[in-house]
Amino acid sequence: MTAQILDGKALAKQREQMLKQRVDLLEQKPVLATILVGDDPSSATYVQMKINACGRVGMGSRSVELPSTTTTEQLLATIDELNNDSQVCGILLQHPVPPQIDERACFDAIDITKDVDGVTTQGFGRMAMGEQAFGSATPAGIMTLLKHYDIQLSGKHAVVVGRSPILGKPMAAMLLNANCTVTICHSRTEDLADQIGRADIVVGAVGKPELIRADWIKDGAVVVDAGYHQGGLGDIEKDGLENRVAAVTPVPGGVGPMTINALISQTLESAELLA
Ligand code: NAP
Repeated sequence: MTAQILDGKALAKQREQMLKQRVDLLEQKPVLATILVGDDPSSATYVQMKINACGRVGMGSRSVELPSTTTTEQLLATIDELNNDSQVCGILLQHPVPPQIDERACFDAIDITKDVDGVTTQGFGRMAMGEQAFGSATPAGIMTLLKHYDIQLSGKHAVVVGRSPILGKPMAAMLLNANCTVTICHSRTEDLADQIGRADIVVGAVGKPELIRADWIKDGAVVVDAGYHQGGLGDIEKDGLENRVAAVTPVPGGVGPMTINALISQTLESAELLA
């Protein structure tokens, strides 16, 4: 068996062409507001990549940069302004924010109609209930990738490793909505190897390089790796997998480009709904 490569980079590029055509139909250019708090270089790079993607599809962006000393109240005031700005149709608050800020309160202050990164409690709840909502961008991008490659989900056993509010939990809810049988693992899970060994679909969303070992994964599984670490490592070790699993996301070039694509795609949807 040769694993199918779930090429997020190629799919994102292809989808950008379709998004551009839809943007061109709009009278007013959609604008994504990005908020970066502090001076973390990785976060600055991620925000810039999102701004660049907006430019490629003809959307506008508004970049708000706040100092690392910003308080919760100051950030809430910024979000309030953007909520009330009719030119802005989507708001991205880059995670993580400095520790003195109540991140959950700030995420939840984003107007549901502009929550294009899918971070609000209300949006999560609606998505989990199967109601219309913008999904959290990384799992939403993963679902688009799996759909594009016609990966069968219904009835399959998916094991999601990680339970963060922006990745593991919404990923599990989306897979459940797609009729997977879902197991969520986390740092207190006993015998992670055993859980993963029973997975038809493994999602690594753990933030530790190659924590998930290749020999835990069963033959024929679908392997989705959300991690990215120095040296091109993911959260999942890939040694030997290419000859015995059904499909695998590359790192880089798998989940990352699809995350950005989900964000700009949902920004456009917001603009179309608000138009
Ligand atoms: P996070 O908030 O740090 O959450 C990590 C999760 O992993 C937690 O639920 C934690 O469990 C669990 N975990 C930690 N050690 C574990 C262990 N030994 N065994 C089992 N589970 C363990 O991270 P995140 O924001 O969800 O991100 C996860 C990964 O995805 C990171 O590599 C991040 O860089 C990547 N990511 C990629 C994108 C993208 O666009 N490609 C976007 C977002 C994130 P507890 O809950 O018990 O602590």
